[in-house]
Amino acid sequence: MAAVLDLGAVLIHWLRGGRFRLDGGAMFGPVPKPLWHRRYPCDEHNSIPMQACPLLVETPSARLVIEAGLGNALSDKQRRNFRVTAAAAVEEDLEALGLSPEDIDYVVYTHMDWDHIGGGVRQAEGVATPFYPRARYVIQGAEWEAATNPDSRTRHGYWPEHWQPLSAAGRVHLVEGDVELVPGVELLLTGGHTIGHQAVRITTGEHTVLHLGDLLPTHAHLNPLWVMAYDNFPLTSVAQKERWLPQAQAGRWWLTFYHDPFVLAATLDETGQIERCIPGELGWPPAHEGVARD
Ligand SMILES: [Zn+2]
Repeated sequence: MAAVLDLGAVLIHWLRGGRFRLDGGAMFGPVPKPLWHRRYPCDEHNSIPMQACPLLVETPSARLVIEAGLGNALSDKQRRNFRVTAAAAVEEDLEALGLSPEDIDYVVYTHMDWDHIGGGVRQAEGVATPFYPRARYVIQGAEWEAATNPDSRTRHGYWPEHWQPLSAAGRVHLVEGDVELVPGVELLLTGGHTIGHQAVRITTGEHTVLHLGDLLPTHAHLNPLWVMAYDNFPLTSVAQKERWLPQAQAGRWWLTFYHDPFVLAATLDETGQIERCIPGELGWPPAHEGVARD
């Protein structure tokens, strides 16, 4: 994937972390289908195209990967259930940039759901090891606590095979609350989607990029009230979006959409409409699906 956001001292590349499909009703929670369908296409079964594309962030002081994509260790049954339509190609994308997983200093997880961290481990001959062998995997302490002690609702999203190898290799780096990880890269504890969900804000010169993770999975979730049925604390999601989106709009910050195959990042104009954007693999704006298109 050639998409890049060049901010001078900071470069952001999108890596192909895999594409899949989910139920549109679950992705748009309280929103009636006639409303969400105007903004986001679905097939005849109400399933919508999704992706899970990590961001490679190169700053003058560090190389970071935000989120890890689906990885390549899903079983045939899981690939069927999640309707995986394109496998992850993160290593190939790094190679095309002259990089390898060893070159990454930090891996930031907004939270620990399977579709965000699957690509953080490598499965080879039955042994799982960190995919980024030198990196610190940066996670909020509250999220680690929740993922390693899941309850009946959260268990389906937190898979031990994704975090146990990181822990065994001593690569987990827990943070508490808002912190500046490296100059220009802040982690912001938001909660909402999960209890320890964090956002990432990148600042360089006059540019700001805000990665809201699963608080803003696609461009169609820009309305603060449009939250997912998957959110464990939806009122917190609404409050966090109401806090951050007006600032992003006023400051013409770039907003990133981890799950959106139509648009990877965008700035908003004064009316809240998309002003500048970086199109995704399925192209911008979305074409409506009569039938599944991929
Ligand atoms: Zn997600």
